[in-house]
Amino acid sequence: DKQMKQIEDKRAKGRIFKKDSSFLKAEENVFDVPTLKLLYSFANKGIISELGGSISTGKEANVFYATGNEGEVAVKIYRINSSTFKAMDPYILKDPRFTHIRHSRKDIIFAWTQKEYQNLLRINKAGIRAPRPVTFDRNILVMEFMGENGIAYPSLKDVKMDDEDARLFYDQIIENMRRMYVRASLVHADLSEYNILIDIENEEAVIIDVGQAVTLNHPNAREFLTRDIENIKRFFKKYGIDEGTKEIAERIKQK
Ligand code: ADP
Ligand code: MN
Repeated sequence: DKQMKQIEDKRAKGRIFKKDSSFLKAEENVFDVPTLKLLYSFANKGIISELGGSISTGKEANVFYATGNEGEVAVKIYRINSSTFKAMDPYILKDPRFTHIRHSRKDIIFAWTQKEYQNLLRINKAGIRAPRPVTFDRNILVMEFMGENGIAYPSLKDVKMDDEDARLFYDQIIENMRRMYVRASLVHADLSEYNILIDIENEEAVIIDVGQAVTLNHPNAREFLTRDIENIKRFFKKYGIDEGTKEIAERIKQK
């Protein structure tokens, strides 16, 4: 249609996506026209001057690498036609911050994007290493790229470590959960070795993927916290770490 043609024309002129001009071709079936237009508006603002390769294709979102006037950024795009968006409902409709939103697919996804942005702000303010949010609009979140020279930090699950390193990261992660709980009043609710990156050089755990994180007054906050603790316990068990769930929960709630 006409909008698509305009976008294609811009692409042909090489306005953005210079490096990977096949981007739109590959993605035009994944992203709707408003999403592509929104990407171009980020480009016009200079937030994205070059969109690089895909970092990840998840159940609900695609993450891309980009550079722009904020430096290296990660661009997380929630797919409007995502088939699994219903799974978002319990995390957003019962979060007191978001009980008033409309229940349409689009509105839930837009609210989710906003929630991830707000959660990133709170988490950063709480002194936790996590991507700094740059901006968001509709279904696109732009945040600090956690990595160097276009290479993202590895996930905790892919990091080779000895028992001593494991103990260090374990304590950092529990401390991050404590800060998140006590200072930011949030429970991550999807914490696992997949949503923790490791900055090896600085020996630092980085918390990501916080769209589903809920405030402590969410009716399921306690249950989500227990699940997060169990995930972390399961991962670190092979490194000889075996602290009780209750003891961990007490540490996390310690002011
Ligand atoms: P999903 O909901 O699809 O799991 P995530 O936020 O976990 O989305 O992102 C998927 C993957 O993309 C992550 O595992 C990580 O490898 C990469 N990623 C996400 N955010 C960033 C970021 N800010 N910097 C670098 N890599 C990122
Ligand atoms: Mn994830």
